Amino acid sequence: MTAHDKNSTIRRAIRASMSVTSDTARINPDTTWSAIDELNRQTWAQQLFAAAHRFGISQSQVEADSPDLVEVHVRAHGSDVWQRADANSLIAALDSVRVAVKPREPPHAPAPLPHDVAWRLPDGTSWASALQQWTPALKAATYAALRQRGNRFRDTLVQAFLRERISGAKHLKMWATTLTGSIMQPYWHLDDAPLARWILKARFDICPTEHFVRSYYRRLDDDFRRACYCCGRIRTSTPDVFWPETLPHVVLFCAHQCQTRLREKFRADLQRLSTHPDVAKVLAQVGSPTAPDFNDNNDLFTVFQLCTGVGPAVSALQAEPLLGAANNNADATILREWPQYLRNNMRAKLAVAWMRPLFDDWLAISRDPRRPELPQQSPGYCLALLVARHVRSIFSARSSILSTQPLAAAFKRRDRDSQAPQPQPPPQAAAAAQPAPPNSQNTGSLVPAQGSLIDAASRETNAQAAFSSPPES
Ligand SMILES: [Zn+2]
Repeated sequence: MTAHDKNSTIRRAIRASMSVTSDTARINPDTTWSAIDELNRQTWAQQLFAAAHRFGISQSQVEADSPDLVEVHVRAHGSDVWQRADANSLIAALDSVRVAVKPREPPHAPAPLPHDVAWRLPDGTSWASALQQWTPALKAATYAALRQRGNRFRDTLVQAFLRERISGAKHLKMWATTLTGSIMQPYWHLDDAPLARWILKARFDICPTEHFVRSYYRRLDDDFRRACYCCGRIRTSTPDVFWPETLPHVVLFCAHQCQTRLREKFRADLQRLSTHPDVAKVLAQVGSPTAPDFNDNNDLFTVFQLCTGVGPAVSALQAEPLLGAANNNADATILREWPQYLRNNMRAKLAVAWMRPLFDDWLAISRDPRRPELPQQSPGYCLALLVARHVRSIFSARSSILSTQPLAAAFKRRDRDSQAPQPQPPPQAAAAAQPAPPNSQNTGSLVPAQGSLIDAASRETNAQAAFSSPPES
């Protein structure tokens, strides 16, 4: 930014490009000549105006070659108070001087002086020298200001994308409610990359559930017909109606004894972690937020997803259908069409408020080599590791269950796709197709009763005798 710089080849080239850029292109640099077959007509200067516009730098600042990104602070000799300086400020030889990132808008609102984004200059540096000499301090402050503005612009795109996912498309809808902005998620710092990928699958809802697999391969359009094969019917009295195998179903509701056992172990492990003294020590620094209730499905699923947010700050977008029409007494065919799990955003926020300090502490240890602690021993790391191992274990168990005969054969044929009763079976088969004995645990409950693999397979055999279903192509 010295006088010599202003006569450099690049500066003269920009000035030449500006001289041939129309007023229209200066005022609307993003939309002028923006069609795919007109892009070659954009000047270099127009593209500079467009880039600067995204960073919140005005047209006049670009034309004047003086982006208003940083400011100068002065502290009188012997004083503890920093004050903003301007062109008229008198700076004595012993005064301290620093250059800092300009605070966020609104520009006319009184804003506190930034402390952690300022770089010191030699004492007595004049205001003009501070802004015109391309010192390491000015360079660092300018880069920090641009990075801050760039992140802000990127975040507006991220917020729009998250809102679009939540309000419209189903793909990545669940993921969009697990974060609030564009930040690197802490679980990527796990030492074990395959475990981190399990967390990613859980957050993206691409774990190998019937819901994901059969929608991904476009094999069954109706969500509610993607039945879980690990647990039994919703009602023993209603044949061939099962819970859809969604991610929340596997994590919270699946009644297979293996999944139930893993779920209880997960709750106990989380409870043990939450009462560890190291956790209390970290949380005490932020006011000791209340630990989630791990027996509550809402809290458990929020922790399971390692949410660092609850989606963009537009709560109306996250409105889910009310469960009023579905209740414990509803018909099984109605129950399976309603979401088995609906998130309570208020509770989710509380669970996030408990997790975030643990993650922040973990990342702070990872990023600061002066911290004596090991990241692997931080509570945030332990929490992510616990969740990752749980995701892997429940899908490992699912795979094992579905590869054991006779359920494996029924699963391979996708017997539960059958919907309409088939022609009457011969008497012998009809005798074998007597309804399963009533299961008191199932009646009137949204959660299917726990059943063993043998029980489930037995019911499958009966159902197959009564309803023949063609194998899925
Ligand atoms: Zn199930």
